[in-house]
Amino acid sequence: MRKKIVIIGGGVAGLSAGIYGQKYGYDTEIIEMHTLPGGQCTAWDRKGYCFDYCLHWLVGTATGPFHDIWKETGVIADGVKIIDHEVHTKIVDEQGNSFILYTNIDRWEKYLIDIAPEDAATIRGMCADMRKGARLEPFSAPPELRSPLDYLRAICKMPRAIMLMMKYGNKSCRDYFKKLNFKNKRLSFFFNNLYGERDFSALAFLMMLGWFYHKNAGYLVGGSLPMTARMAEKYAALGGTLTLGRKVKSIIVENDTSIGITLADGSVIEADYVVSAADGHATLYDMLEGEYLSDKIKAAYAEWPLFTPLVQVSFGIDKRVPTEFPVQTYLAKGCTIGGTVLDSGYTIMNYCFDPTMAPEGKTVIVLRYETPWELWRDLEGDAYKAEKRQIEQDSRAILEQYLPGIAAHIEVIDIATPKTDVRYTGVWKGAYEGFMPTSKNITKSLDTTLPGLKNFYMCGQWLFPGGGLPPSAQSGKWVVQLMRKKDNMVPHTNLCKIVGMVRLPMQ
Ligand SMILES: Cc1cc2nc3c(=O)[nH]c(=O)nc-3n(C[C@H](O)[C@H](O)[C@H](O)COP(=O)(O)OP(=O)(O)OC[C@H]3O[C@@H](n4cnc5c(N)ncnc54)[C@H](O)[C@@H]3O)c2cc1C
Repeated sequence: MRKKIVIIGGGVAGLSAGIYGQKYGYDTEIIEMHTLPGGQCTAWDRKGYCFDYCLHWLVGTATGPFHDIWKETGVIADGVKIIDHEVHTKIVDEQGNSFILYTNIDRWEKYLIDIAPEDAATIRGMCADMRKGARLEPFSAPPELRSPLDYLRAICKMPRAIMLMMKYGNKSCRDYFKKLNFKNKRLSFFFNNLYGERDFSALAFLMMLGWFYHKNAGYLVGGSLPMTARMAEKYAALGGTLTLGRKVKSIIVENDTSIGITLADGSVIEADYVVSAADGHATLYDMLEGEYLSDKIKAAYAEWPLFTPLVQVSFGIDKRVPTEFPVQTYLAKGCTIGGTVLDSGYTIMNYCFDPTMAPEGKTVIVLRYETPWELWRDLEGDAYKAEKRQIEQDSRAILEQYLPGIAAHIEVIDIATPKTDVRYTGVWKGAYEGFMPTSKNITKSLDTTLPGLKNFYMCGQWLFPGGGLPPSAQSGKWVVQLMRKKDNMVPHTNLCKIVGMVRLPMQ
């Protein structure tokens, strides 16, 4: 009697949809093309070192609706250690001057005022905005299932955060910093280099620092792989079927109703519901051949900027390299690594705070930089190998400059390019978190359903500008909540109709 859901993709969104599907009384099967679940949230082992690709901060490690999801999906469980870093990033300019972003806003406020007493009032105002930003909580139910009471509760619970959202919802960091107009040249320089050079949402910036302040965006010791392994274990314990190493080619539609999927080997899996938790573009334009697109979807995929892909160079170092600053960003605009001319700089991450990442007495250091997809799109064979060799050479030199003498201690070096990400996860144009959160899209999202197509749902990072683990997992829960409602498996309330029009921008 249980209905069957087939889920395309075993990343965090797909695993979450599977877990909630099993919990809420469906039979589910996840089809994942890679040999591991986790999608972008992954890591790989090389000679005893673990090179993590994803997890640096997880919103919801302390409280709120995301926290509930992490507990329900097994991500936060007994014995999982959470680290809240004191320093978010240290930024170093080309002259060697540094600037620190503390996660504790009180400490940061003091640090900034010490640097720029002439900007004290402006700094206090900015830090006050960040404290308010931290109070902004996501709704736990999808828009379709919210009652007027949910909206009223939100307004009463976090009036100042909602005011902040209205004030900065359509502002970029560039405009925000311009308006703050720091008199101090050092402050002005670093803020503009931090997020000011592109249309990055001011609201996203304020909220991010606010979450750190409230210790609600911690790091889980062990990183990405154990995190997704816990989700996969939870899913299996609930009776779900995870099928690895099989690629979905298309979604079968009859009479505008999705009834199953066809795999790349030609086999067919029938289901009552199809959920795609795979790459958004591939789902819409390949698996469904562009048949069920709203104007909103077309505009989003045509106009919203994407995250610029990354190259990650991971080093296994055969000695301990302690540091106070696990994340350091070096401004090096115009510098080249391989064929990439850097737009802003590169980041060096030292994982010495997590003993599970390297064998005893050794250290993992990661160098990352942004690289345009156009450079990689057609790079194949020998040209691709040559680019990787050049990246290795340039990265070794950078690391040596950063830590003189370190070259002799490099035991392992591993390079992951945007092509690596696309090969393993199918992510469109290597945009690892989907759409960039800008002043124009931060308060928008795409729907979990498509116009004219029944029994089909989408979840995952491509629905929400900014992407990230929390909304991806939450949307997996949402699609199952919507199915339950459709199948009359939940009591519903009529109260909502009147206030249904009060749509907050966070939808
Ligand atoms: C370098 C990096 C750092 C990050 N840091 C953070 C961080 O610190 N905090 C944070 O919150 N987020 C971070 N993110 C973002 C986060 O990892 C993603 O937003 C999130 O994992 C997306 O999950 P998803 O399930 O929506 O998509 P994905 O992870 O892309 O999962 C999609 C899955 O579908 C599978 N698939 C695709 N096509 C098919 C097909 N045809 N058939 C079968 N399977 C298919 C893929 O193999 C994949 O497993 C980071 C990402 C990267 C890459």
